Amino acid sequence: MNKLKQEYVNCKKQFYLKNKFNFIMTLIFQVVSAIFNISIALFILLLIESMETKNVDKFKEALVVMVAIIIGFTSSSLFLKFFKNLYMHKALSQLKHYVFNKILNKSIGEFNNASTGKYISAFSNDLNSIELNYLNGNIMIFNYVFMLVVTFIALFRINVIIAFSAFVACIIPISVAFIFGNKLINKEKATSEENASFVDQIKDLLNGFIVIKSFKAEKEVLDLFTEQNFTLEETKRGKREATDMMLMSGQISAFLVICIIFILGIYFTFKGTMTIATVVACVQLSNYILDPIKQLVPLVTSKNAAVALIKKLAVAIEESEETNTSAVLEGLSKGIEMKDVSLKYDDGKIALNNINIDFKKGKKYAIVGPSGCGKSTLLKLLLGHFNDYEGEIKYDDNNLRDISLDSLYDVVSVIQQNVFLFDKSLIDNITMFKDFDYKKVRKAVDLAGLSKLVNEKGNDYSCGEGGRNLSGGEKQRISIARCLIRETPVLLMDEATAALDNATAFQVENEILSMDHLTSIIVTHRLEKNLLEKYDEIIVLNTGKIVENGTFNKLMSNKQYFYSLYNVSKVGIS
Ligand code: ADP
Repeated sequence: MNKLKQEYVNCKKQFYLKNKFNFIMTLIFQVVSAIFNISIALFILLLIESMETKNVDKFKEALVVMVAIIIGFTSSSLFLKFFKNLYMHKALSQLKHYVFNKILNKSIGEFNNASTGKYISAFSNDLNSIELNYLNGNIMIFNYVFMLVVTFIALFRINVIIAFSAFVACIIPISVAFIFGNKLINKEKATSEENASFVDQIKDLLNGFIVIKSFKAEKEVLDLFTEQNFTLEETKRGKREATDMMLMSGQISAFLVICIIFILGIYFTFKGTMTIATVVACVQLSNYILDPIKQLVPLVTSKNAAVALIKKLAVAIEESEETNTSAVLEGLSKGIEMKDVSLKYDDGKIALNNINIDFKKGKKYAIVGPSGCGKSTLLKLLLGHFNDYEGEIKYDDNNLRDISLDSLYDVVSVIQQNVFLFDKSLIDNITMFKDFDYKKVRKAVDLAGLSKLVNEKGNDYSCGEGGRNLSGGEKQRISIARCLIRETPVLLMDEATAALDNATAFQVENEILSMDHLTSIIVTHRLEKNLLEKYDEIIVLNTGKIVENGTFNKLMSNKQYFYSLYNVSKVGIS
């Protein structure tokens, strides 16, 4: 079985995992309640026959049947609701859990290649449709098919011609289902894709709310929204049209079936081969054919469309071809080596060109250079975000391509410039929901210059959505504490102190540089002598290449690229 198919099977497995009992009980009570429902025809037959023959015993028998039907139908319906709810609850939560876990297991590079709108749409639009059309759909289809079979058996026993004619009339909606079924599946897929783009756009536009307002771009943004909104609604209109066609064909053939039963019933009564009671029972039975044919066609096609959505979900969560990441990194004893490393982005642009660096354990490295020269890309490479680079990156003797990312992140932490905070408490954002020794937390909080904030607001202070209850500097400090608390042997920083005031930035960077055991690789644009002197090596990049490297004093005495970079920055400050 290929990986995609396996993923599809795994998704479907989630519906029945420790849930088979609930599913089977649902089907059993669905059958029982359908039998009680159909038995109403028997009650009507007995009732009319007792009237026709003026037979009191038969009337009493009909009343007993009626009471039995009421009790049986009510209790089986209650059990049905109970087990169906349990089944649906477990099936959906298990599928969501499985899908989210799969997304969490994706590599950063793989995740970055997909739009998040695709996942958000999967968790909203697609899962709603799977709940309604697949889970509920399957049970309803089973119910209606069972109802049809029992009703036809009853009808065949009463009158073969009536039963046969009704059967032929049912073929019409089945053919329609074939014609419109595929159309609906494609429309459902298209709706899901358009919905993902719509969600992506809404997310983007709402995130940029302040920019939109301050640049007075409301009208232009509304135009962008209108276009996407129109495309989505047009796709949904197509889906609705296909569904309506199927509903209509179901209704027309249902009407046809009832006409056939009535006409043939009257004909056989005239001929004297059927009693009025039997005709009425047949008409009552026809309800159990009409309902299924009206419902079955849209149910089956919607279910097939939902299957397409499960397949789409399988594609979204399928992991790209696994590289052999068998090596487990346990600490760092020698260092990190980059040998002849080059990287092109998808658009063919060379971001890094023939990089050779030997980062030694416990040493401090500064990466400097103008904007766009490849500093962040270099850190991303070290973090295993890319696989398609040329050359070799080694952590001790392990090739990065072979190292499991899980173990890599036990060794390397990163403090990014763009901080992401969860809408949770200060402490949760620092510990990332993990349990840490209180002393460790305090130490990280102190080192990151967060003590004042934590003392003032308290551990449980809510950071708000995206950290909106905090200042840029405070958010930055949380991300620094979050990283320091992990005490990994390697620390990468990407202009992480940019949002801090000069004094705090100096203090934080200084603290990090005085941690002896730590191998630090710090991208910085703050060219401050007092700090730069503390680095063992400064690596100077320009247009993706290393143009110079060495200690601050060496580079300054070289009086080349770094020297001018440094002097320009001093002019900028003064
Ligand atoms: P720096 O951190 O030095 O400012 P980056 O490493 O972010 O520079 O970027 C190096 C070059 O690669 C820049 O020219 C940038 O435009 C380009 N780049 C960065 N990320 C991508 C990407 N995902 N796709 C294509 N080009 C990119």
